[in-house]
Amino acid sequence: MTERTPLIAGNWKMNLDHLQAIALIQKVCWTLNDADFDYNEVEVAVFPPFTDLRSAQTLIDAEKFEVKLGAQDISAHDKGAYTGEISGAMLAKLDVDYVLVGHSERRQYHGEQDDLLNKKVASCFANALTPVICVGETLEELETRGQAAVPVEQTLAALDGHKQLGDFVIAYEPVWAIGTGKVATSDEAEAVANEIREAIRSKHGDIADQIRILYGGSVKAANVAGFLAKDNVDGVLVGGASLESEEFSGICRYKKHIVL
Ligand code: PEP
Repeated sequence: MTERTPLIAGNWKMNLDHLQAIALIQKVCWTLNDADFDYNEVEVAVFPPFTDLRSAQTLIDAEKFEVKLGAQDISAHDKGAYTGEISGAMLAKLDVDYVLVGHSERRQYHGEQDDLLNKKVASCFANALTPVICVGETLEELETRGQAAVPVEQTLAALDGHKQLGDFVIAYEPVWAIGTGKVATSDEAEAVANEIREAIRSKHGDIADQIRILYGGSVKAANVAGFLAKDNVDGVLVGGASLESEEFSGICRYKKHIVL
């Protein structure tokens, strides 16, 4: 059986300035800094806005914090006249590990579609960044096409045609569950994650066993353990609850809530 280290990822979205970012990272890391918590067993990553990345990286380096750093987006281009864009090379220089690609808010408010997102995944691979590819169905798609069809299609589209696949993570986030308080059941998350993994296997082979598939959508300390008890759910992508240090640390300590 393949061991996959669970990933707890906090997407801060467009919140906090660089001073608040430093304070939040400190609080989370201090709270996790005890014998009960082992970063080798549970990987933790935060995804601040671009403007906070440099301060976050300096702090993480200086304090030797073990939390990983992620960016919320990446340009599909390497460099040049693309005002407002941030390239993979710029992110790599700041020791960013992960990049969200295709978050539903980018798809919805910025019209990002599969062909662009495929190029963003390529930019991640070219710069040794790990894309966290966000996939998920809207309420309308859920009602007309069922739960797994759209996330599977979006996954395969993002992975299509790359010369070589680097490491990547899939975040299954039903759009109807993001920021709404509505949560998919852990059985639903497991069923969709399993379909995504099998679709990756049929196109790309046994790397499917190494790839982590996260669930995202109104995850809290109180409901996280149910998702992570499932075989195919290898972590969570957390929005709102990642802005509260106690709540986010509680999510990172999900093992305490799993009754074996
Ligand atoms: C998200 O934005 O990726 C997310 C899952 O948000 P929330 O946890 O607030 O639903």
